[in-house]
Amino acid sequence: MKKIVFATNNLNKLKEVREALPNLDIVSLSQIQCFDELPEEQDSLQGNAQQKAEYVFNRFGVPCFADDTGLLINALGGDPGVYSARYAGLECDSEKNMDLVLKNMTNQEERSALFKTVICYFNGNGPRFFEGEVEGEILKERTGDDGFGYDPIFRPIGYDLSFAQMSMETKNEISHRGRAVKKLVGFLQSM
Ligand code: IMP
Repeated sequence: MKKIVFATNNLNKLKEVREALPNLDIVSLSQIQCFDELPEEQDSLQGNAQQKAEYVFNRFGVPCFADDTGLLINALGGDPGVYSARYAGLECDSEKNMDLVLKNMTNQEERSALFKTVICYFNGNGPRFFEGEVEGEILKERTGDDGFGYDPIFRPIGYDLSFAQMSMETKNEISHRGRAVKKLVGFLQSM
């Protein structure tokens, strides 16, 4: 089975992606003994995804894909965007990030938002990019217990549930990362 590194240690993401790619041996960073903090110094999702995938391939010699995701909220001018992981500061976590979003959206009726994922696959040849998006809205309070990150405050268009109330299967079907992964799968299968 072909081995490919997914440049993450986020178990939620690994689980999501492994379910979408059952025919490939998707390994995590720790499985290839990579314990480095991956560089993410670019000002775009695409730039960060590429930087991480190239870093891993160049150091460990295994084909690699890396993703970068942003939550773009229209009423906040596209914030937190590429800075979604650090929205509430360098020492923040998902709870603090959600608190800040909810605070900045207080009394805001225009609540449309977009989750966007860019995946970069790198195996020594030119980088390949795969994008996925899902439109939705920012809820006024946390709803649901599952998922991770901003899931409890994001409801995709056409659904009555937040991402944190959905099964992983349903979320994978419609999510930004699920859509980007589908494109990656199509590419890997055509190789
Ligand atoms: P990263 O690019 O995966 O590091 O994600 C950037 C930020 O978006 C982090 O704060 C993640 O928790 C959040 N995030 C990424 N994917 C999702 C998702 O599927 N649902 C909710 N939040 C996410």
